[in-house]
Amino acid sequence: MEMNIYGYKCKRCGHVQYPYRTICCNCHENDHNEFDIVPLAKNGKLLTYTLLYNPPADFELVYLALGIVELEDGHRITGQLQIKQPCVGMKVTGKVELVRKDEYNKYYGMVFYEA
Ligand SMILES: [Zn+2]
Repeated sequence: MEMNIYGYKCKRCGHVQYPYRTICCNCHENDHNEFDIVPLAKNGKLLTYTLLYNPPADFELVYLALGIVELEDGHRITGQLQIKQPCVGMKVTGKVELVRKDEYNKYYGMVFYEA
């Protein structure tokens, strides 16, 4: 089963926002339950990135590459990068994958690869 990151589409004006906010940032008219959940795009452009050399121990990585990607639908999302030599402006494609686990929980997030 393919997993997605979801945005929240206002039932009054149709604006999609991510991450979740209780009030639509476009029309300011709706209540917290007036959203439809819609999958966000997975392809986009790398806007910026950083390498974290001291991630929490349960990441089990030498370093963690994090990027901010502008998706094709205009949303900006933070995700891990599985790209050997990231380059600002490069095209990337995302998959929702297991990014971290501890004794009790598994955490999923967007992981970007070179497109
Ligand atoms: Zn709205």
